[in-house]
Amino acid sequence: MRSYSARSVEAYEKIEQVGEGTYGEVFMARSRDDSSLVALKKVKLEGEREGFPITAIREIKILKSLNHDNVINMKEIVTSKNKSSIYMVFEYMDHDLTGLAGREGIKFSIPQIKCYMQQLLTGLNYCHLNNILHRDIKGANLLIDNNGVLKLADFGLARSCALENSRALTNRVITLWYRPPELLLGTQAYGPAVDTWSAGCIFAELLLGKPILQVRVSSDARLPRRAKARGRASNSPRVPNPPSSLFLGFFFLKPQGKSETEQLDLIFKLCGTPSAEDWPGLHSLPWAKTILPTKKAYPRRVQEVFRRAPPSARRLVERFLTLDPEKRVTARDALDSDYFWEEPLPCKPGDLPKYEPSHEFQTRKRKQEASRAQEERARRAPAPGAGAGYGAAAKYAGYRAAAPLGSWAAPAAGGMTASWAQPKKKDEAE
Ligand code: AMP
Repeated sequence: MRSYSARSVEAYEKIEQVGEGTYGEVFMARSRDDSSLVALKKVKLEGEREGFPITAIREIKILKSLNHDNVINMKEIVTSKNKSSIYMVFEYMDHDLTGLAGREGIKFSIPQIKCYMQQLLTGLNYCHLNNILHRDIKGANLLIDNNGVLKLADFGLARSCALENSRALTNRVITLWYRPPELLLGTQAYGPAVDTWSAGCIFAELLLGKPILQVRVSSDARLPRRAKARGRASNSPRVPNPPSSLFLGFFFLKPQGKSETEQLDLIFKLCGTPSAEDWPGLHSLPWAKTILPTKKAYPRRVQEVFRRAPPSARRLVERFLTLDPEKRVTARDALDSDYFWEEPLPCKPGDLPKYEPSHEFQTRKRKQEASRAQEERARRAPAPGAGAGYGAAAKYAGYRAAAPLGSWAAPAAGGMTASWAQPKKKDEAE
């Protein structure tokens, strides 16, 4: 990787926007030197009172320290002509997991799910061995190329968790749906188990075909200022900037908002309301005294919700979704679990199907365009009873028109569901 004597962004030709991170836009671009594709991640500088954003400094520092097949590779940093914009240059990845899974007609096979999970856990285990916590594991941050290789990306919230670095950590990290119970109960002393909870949520999502712990965000009050300013709509809540000063640190000690307590409710409804017996450190968590007495006693329902999954998958979900972080499975142990070593075995990345490019940003945009087109058609359609009904077929046609499918697409809408999964019952994983 090049050092800070940055080249000009003119070395790349921008093609199209493929993503929008919390801290800047991401573009697909082509190198003018060798025609290779790259991703340019623009570092947002506007509104930064402290110059170069601390999150970008952290991300660059951490990315420079990591070198693994399942971790995104930053090639260099480039600047605009007048140095007013800075871009991180990454190897280009064709998909992110959310974008891919959200495409019409895509249905992951069991060997494919195993292959993605194995790569996710291998990358995560590497980070954890190097004392790095990712702190924002979710589908949009798992990038996949057309050789089937999955890489962890977006280290904007990552940080070192080395023993000598034992300062209190912020608990407002990890996108809400993937945030573990210990953070929602206010802990500021945590470790790799926060990432394995998120990995477990991804695994459960791949098995069930939908996010398992998807709380509604009650208002946009918790969106980062800049995302709000852009009027950003997202299907997953974003996390605010981590604190960069003691003053902000105080703000981050405040107890939870409505969305966070609802998220905890969802977790308890699926995983059971914990007791001191199954989670010995529970009552010493900062917000346990105020939050726990307000919670109903729910039984654990993991076995029931995943009853159609093979036993080894069920056992692994149980180990991931263990409320006590001390007892939660590690990335290393998860890789050793029966699930990855029994038939059908994980396929090799190179054997995975090739898909048309799909990123969460584009999938979301296509869906928005489709629903706008649908609204427009509905507006123009004759009043009910005045002619042929405008129903699901038209809605579907609207989506298809906005999102043309390539020959790889199966005709039926499959979602993220593994082939063993039956149509979901209404009460499953709510
Ligand atoms: P980030 O700001 O890193 O979270 O990136 C936001 C989105 O941009 C991701 O969800 C991806 O869809 C896309 N993206 C980020 N990095 C890359 C990359 N190296 N190649 C292709 N797309 C990317």
